[in-house]
Amino acid sequence: MLQTLGTRGFADPALHAEGLYINCQWEKGQDIPVVDPSTGEVLAHVADAGIDDALRAVDAAHAAAAGWRATPSRQRSEILRRWFHLMTEHADDLAMLISLENGKALSDARGEVGYAAEFFRWYAEEATRIPGEYRPTPSGSHKILVDHEPIGISVLITPWNFPAAMATRKIGPALAAGCTVILKPASETPLTAYAMARLGEEAGVPAGVVNVLTTRNPGPVVSAMLADPRVRKLSFTGSTGVGRALLAEAAKTVVSCSMELGGNAPFLVFDDADLDAALDGAMIAKMRNAGEACTAANRFYVQAGIHDAFVDGLTKRMASLKVGAGTDVATQCGPMITQKAVQKIDQLVSNALQRGARATTGGKPREGSGYFYPPTVLENVPTDADIAFEEIFGPVAPVYKFETEEEAIRLANDTEYGLAAYIYSRDLKRAMRVGKGLESGMLGINRGLMSDPAAPFGGVKQSGLGREGGVTGILEFMEAKYYAVDI
Ligand code: NAP
Repeated sequence: MLQTLGTRGFADPALHAEGLYINCQWEKGQDIPVVDPSTGEVLAHVADAGIDDALRAVDAAHAAAAGWRATPSRQRSEILRRWFHLMTEHADDLAMLISLENGKALSDARGEVGYAAEFFRWYAEEATRIPGEYRPTPSGSHKILVDHEPIGISVLITPWNFPAAMATRKIGPALAAGCTVILKPASETPLTAYAMARLGEEAGVPAGVVNVLTTRNPGPVVSAMLADPRVRKLSFTGSTGVGRALLAEAAKTVVSCSMELGGNAPFLVFDDADLDAALDGAMIAKMRNAGEACTAANRFYVQAGIHDAFVDGLTKRMASLKVGAGTDVATQCGPMITQKAVQKIDQLVSNALQRGARATTGGKPREGSGYFYPPTVLENVPTDADIAFEEIFGPVAPVYKFETEEEAIRLANDTEYGLAAYIYSRDLKRAMRVGKGLESGMLGINRGLMSDPAAPFGGVKQSGLGREGGVTGILEFMEAKYYAVDI
């Protein structure tokens, strides 16, 4: 049974700060502080892996690779399903841990744990349905047989904003495909990753199949792993800037890359939208995770006829949110991850205000301890203000007015990103027509939430390469092998 410590049991940060997890061994280290963003206080310290540690993790993943690949898919599936059940059993503790180290409201954290666990259940099911192909060539010369094989050792890098779900969205398909992995979680939120590794161990994941390491020096440590010819896959979720640097690094050894990068989601509301539904959707699309989501609505384009009513409704809803520590059950908007994040939001808002925008609620950082920024609505924002082009990653909703459908599409596409977009209209034909014109990997039609383990998640343009989740997510961790067969 799992060990429990302190008064918080499995949610105790100290329990998950025992060190690197390599080859099923916990290796002590007390180097990197993990901070509670609602107070700025240190919760625990985790170990700092160097290049040697990372290469030992590659050794462990390599030693386990042949056995895991040969494990029948039904068995791999059952281990993933047990991991799903353990996460579900420990959902409250995991949510508390996420809330402590990330700051998000407990309700958001609970939602994340459910979403994260579902990737294990989904890929437990997909593990036993790996597709193949058999067909004659058009000329009739021979038969084409296509088999899918595990791609090999996979390095998984995840951000702090969804510490559980971004990890399971990679580990689930990788293990289902038959790959062994090394997970490097974000330094701000490593405790959830280590907690999940403990549950994986209890679920029966063999030694070396999943390794987890934290480091102060992600650049050199990840580069050393990518330079090792045994590593064949890099699956990264994070900012576009780091993604670009990693693509260049992976090119040196021609490592296959999946990239889930930044977003700048437009949220389009047409005159014929159901106003209440649009406001409900706007609150979800903007405020899940206090705006710290790659799919967060970053720009609200609202048609002239409904604009004022939308701003009024959004202002009332945003102003009524309770801001506080995520671990307080009454909290609806937790702190930002760091003080630097608050400063970035403040700069974007200040720039918009200087350019003529007006804050109908919020508009400046909260005084006192912790990294708080209040829910904010900006109207009359110039469409070329900095805030229209950068990820806000916070609880700020800039609203822009538009007149025509063509103008809305042009403004929505005026960004280097293309991850998510939202459309509200009662006219489904229009919604689909506008959707077709938007450069985006995912679209919410009269919905403020699109993430689902059974759907392909990913973006176009500078938002990334490849798709996670869904039926095709497992193929990101497989190589097609073609047999030309003379029968
Ligand atoms: P980030 O700074 O790019 O960091 C992401 C991960 O990369 C962390 O584990 C980080 O480690 C690591 N890293 C940083 N520099 C690195 C380097 N030179 N080499 C290798 N790894 C490196 O992003 P973030 O601030 O954590 O996350 C926010 C970003 O993620 C936003 O842009 C958001 O849109 C994006 N995101 C995208 C998706 C999606 O599915 N498209 C989902 C969630 C988030 P350290 O923590 O140790 O620095």
